Amino acid sequence: MDVPAYRSKQVYEWIYQKGITTFQDMANLPKNLQKEMDMQYAIDYGRIIDNQLSVDGTRKLLLQFSGDPQASVETVFIPEHHRGTLCVSSQVGCSLSCTFCHTGTQKLYRNLTAGEIVSQYMVAAWIANDFPRRANQQRNVSNIVFMGQGEPLYNFRNVSSAISLLTDHQGIGMAPWRITISTSGVAPLIPRIAKELRVGLAISLHSADNDTRSEIMPINKTYPLQQLMESCADFAKLAGQQNRRITFEYVMLDGINDSDSDAKRLVKLLKHLPAHGFYARPQKNAKGEMDMMRWECGIPGKEKTPWENGIYKCVLLFTEDYPAVPPKCQFIPPLFHPNVFPSGTVCLSILNADKDWKPSITIKQILLGVQSLLAEPNNSDPAQTEAYQMYRSNINNYERKVREQARKMAR
Ligand code: SF4
Repeated sequence: MDVPAYRSKQVYEWIYQKGITTFQDMANLPKNLQKEMDMQYAIDYGRIIDNQLSVDGTRKLLLQFSGDPQASVETVFIPEHHRGTLCVSSQVGCSLSCTFCHTGTQKLYRNLTAGEIVSQYMVAAWIANDFPRRANQQRNVSNIVFMGQGEPLYNFRNVSSAISLLTDHQGIGMAPWRITISTSGVAPLIPRIAKELRVGLAISLHSADNDTRSEIMPINKTYPLQQLMESCADFAKLAGQQNRRITFEYVMLDGINDSDSDAKRLVKLLKHLPAHGFYARPQKNAKGEMDMMRWECGIPGKEKTPWENGIYKCVLLFTEDYPAVPPKCQFIPPLFHPNVFPSGTVCLSILNADKDWKPSITIKQILLGVQSLLAEPNNSDPAQTEAYQMYRSNINNYERKVREQARKMAR
């Protein structure tokens, strides 16, 4: 249609920000344009064939696309206390035959289009009262997982377009980290999830033994565990900078994958994956018990700064006076940074009871604060001479030294 570009933007906002489903309701469009669009186009999110609500609030929708009874998929919305997760399908049926999965008994009928994938969100968000979208408003459908029917990586192009639409700030504007792709293990495409889509990854693992996994998930014959783990390691390296994590899914199948040796194999398989992103875990004391006063943490360097690619290990040390008194954050010394003392202790206002410390500050906020401080030193609080002077007098040398340090501390 021959209309000015700003009209497309208006229509796009009506659809994806306000959830409007008829052109007549797009109030800022001229009447003749509304009519013309009505004649030429339709906003169609499919037909709800079934809508079941369980006592815990979980809603299961059966959606049919293009009026084709065979093109029906399930979409499930799971509300929780702090978030609401929508599980979407990417294919009608599935070409894989995982033995524990009902979809695995159906043949692949076809890939869903990007529009049909986004439609599942539009219908669920509409039912959950997320439209019209308001700035700073908590969404009821806050997270999306590609864990419904189909193998999303066998429909990569359409899944990728759908993610572009879901994350577009002019429209739905969902944060990429709130989206997760779950795959049965299409190893060659896994690094592309981090590189191109920048969303989270879940691996449908279910066994750490090649023979068992091949039996219950035939895709393992094509991409065995070693290849899968190599791809996961690549993902972890790339995605660590974006703070994306890998979730491993494991359904316990009686007598098949639930023995003690299965558990040990699982630990052995996963322990080689590089650590990535932030982490914080209580250390163990001499008796092997969790010591809640000492937390071992890792802070990834911010992307696109000289600190990127490094993971900076530190401990958070709490005292009996916590939360009136903040914990101490101490890097393993030496750490080259203007605001880190030679002992490794960080000089940061939110960690100072006389400055910006508040008892409500969480460990996550502390680690994020320290990550920002690494990338943007504070000139008014010098804590070590060498880094402070170099930062002030020769920024190129300073950044070169920081990059060198990041390489040594790479994941
Ligand atoms: S890939 Fe997923 S949908 Fe397909 S059979 Fe396996 S578990 Fe089921």
